[in-house]
Order: sequence, then C-alpha cells, then structure tokens
Amino acid sequence: MNSNETSHRQFASDNYAGVCPEAMAAMAKANQGHCRSYGDDPYTDKAADRIREIFETDCEVFFVFNGTAANSLALAALCQSYHSILCHDTAHVETDECGAPEFFSNGTKLLLLPGANGKINPDAIDEIVHRRTDIHFPKPRVVSVTQATELGTVYSVDELRVVGERAKKYGLRFHMDGARFACATASLNVAPKEISWKVGVDALCFGGAKNGTAIGEAVVFFNRELAREFDYRCKQAGQLASKMRFLAAPWLGLLEQGAWLKYGAQANRMAQRLHAALAQIPGVKFLFPVQANSVFVTLPEKAIETLHAQGWWFYTFIGQGGCRFMCSWDVTEADVDAFVAAIRQAMKAV
Ligand SMILES: *Cc1c(COP(=O)(O)O)cnc(C)c1O
Repeated sequence: MNSNETSHRQFASDNYAGVCPEAMAAMAKANQGHCRSYGDDPYTDKAADRIREIFETDCEVFFVFNGTAANSLALAALCQSYHSILCHDTAHVETDECGAPEFFSNGTKLLLLPGANGKINPDAIDEIVHRRTDIHFPKPRVVSVTQATELGTVYSVDELRVVGERAKKYGLRFHMDGARFACATASLNVAPKEISWKVGVDALCFGGAKNGTAIGEAVVFFNRELAREFDYRCKQAGQLASKMRFLAAPWLGLLEQGAWLKYGAQANRMAQRLHAALAQIPGVKFLFPVQANSVFVTLPEKAIETLHAQGWWFYTFIGQGGCRFMCSWDVTEADVDAFVAAIRQAMKAV
C-alpha cells in the first residue's frame, strides 16, 4: 500500500469507504454470547421490523451478502426462465453483474430500454411490449429500475408512478435496484413508501454496503406472495448466512436513529459541493444532472493521467463513459476541496 492509499479519501466508489460508526457499534453489540443461526435470531427479527417500520407496511425482508445476489435472486423470484426483464441499457443488472440475473433465473433474458440520464423512457416499455406478442419472443414480465440510477440521477415520484402504471397495465412486476436507495430518498426528501410500494414496486433491493455497512443488502418484498420460498432460493445460491445476526445487526445501526438518511444526505451534499466547485473550472463538462452522490464529467486525457498519477482514483468506464466521481458516506468538505484543487491544477497544465 503506498501512502496515497491512506492519506485521503477516494472518489472511485462508495464501496471504498469503511463501515460507519453506527453499523460498527451495532455489530459489536451483536457479538455477545450465542444465539440461533440462519436468521432465526433477535437481530434479524428486529432489523426486518425496522425495515417494515421505515416503509410503513408489512413487507417480507431477507438479508443477503451483496447487491448482485439481491438483484439476481429477487429478479428470479419475479419471473420464469421464458420471461424477459426490461431494464435501462446502463442498468447494473445488465452491465455489472456478469450475467448473474440470467444465471439465477435460469436464462431469463434482459431486454434493454433507452432513456435519458439513466432513466427508462416509459414509452419504451409500451414499445417493447407491443413489438412482439408471439410465442417466439421472451415474454416481458418484469421492469427493473435503479434508484438512484447508475448515472447519479434520481427518478422523481411522478416518474416512478408512470413506470409503475405502465408495469401494471401490462401485467409486469416492478423491481427496484436500490443500491443507493438512501441517497435517492434523501435527495427527494420523501417517505420511503412514496418511492417504493406506493408507486407499485413489488421488490426492492435495499443497499447497505454503500450506505455504511460492511456487507449485506436487504431484499424487501412488498408483494409478499412473490417472496414465497425465497429463503430456499437464497440458501441454494449460497446466500443464507449462517451467522445471519452479523448481516442484520448493522442495519439496526443504520436504521434506528436515522443514520442511513444522514449519510445518504451527506454523500449527496458532497456531490453538490463538488459539482458547484467544478462548474468554476473551465473545460470541465458535466454529463448528467447531479441528483445523488455522484458527479460525471469529461476531462482531457492528460488531466485524467495527472490525477491518476497523483493517486486520485476514479473510474472512467462506468455508465456511458466519462469520469465518475463518487462521494461516499464519509467524504468531507475538506476531501472535496482537496480533490477540486487537484483537478484545477491538472486542468491548468493541459
Ligand atoms: C454497487 C451496486 C450494486 C451491488 O453490487 P455488488 O458489488 O454486487 O454488491 C447493485 N446495483 C448498483 C446500481 C450498484 O451501484
């Protein structure tokens, strides 16, 4: 590890950050004595109850190790192998899960939809549903959205309502990849129910890792019938944690005093600060509206090389290209300002 790796926080991904104090404390608290395994423990029960409270509904909750598993298994539960899943062409389930949704659903095909700023154009749902209705085409069964999107934008309540209505009209189930659901909720400043079951979401993959846990995502079924035998699906996929209390307890830390929203809002605020500062630097072009915790820009190749050589890490291949600057839950104003100063310097030299 060189000194740059420890000297400042990075903007590469929100999973570069560590565990937030609330989640760590909850984990330590759960590390006492013996308790039942495989989810039959008080921490798992309580964490699921907190999630039901937050969503103000009686949903089914499961904890799995990561987001790829959460998405893949949830999607598999929503359809048969001869169905298709409609998602945006930059969706994580399409571009970053190595075919896991298809694998765990035994071959259900993802069909890609266009739309500006990482959001599905609802008319594309009509188009694909009507394109083919014969037996030779994989039957559309699920529409999947990402909230916040892979491009750092957020579907508004109305935009989600429209997607939900189209889904309902065509008998499609509605899946939400909420790896950054905390940022989306904080950004919109609405009750979680307003952007989930109330707009028709059947299953939400509720992200923990990017919000401050070490590992563990929650799969939340608002449509409880679809959760039938989901525990078996998790077990078969190697996603049933034997010491489940350690996947569940950190959620208590995140949820009990509102830390999840505090960190979601903090990450969003840092992205706004970064956006505002970069807007003052000639030559920096923004690719998408900044509505959550990431900022996408184009920079000259030479500036990217300079920044990388100085030990600033960020990706240039995500979404539709460009540089993605991702603000983690723990990024501070000083971190943002130091990064901006480095970018300003690098741009002067090109
Ligand atoms: C990070 C992320 C996930 C989860 O990824 P894992 O590495 O499998 O935990 C899912 N969806 C989106 C949009 C993500 O950014």
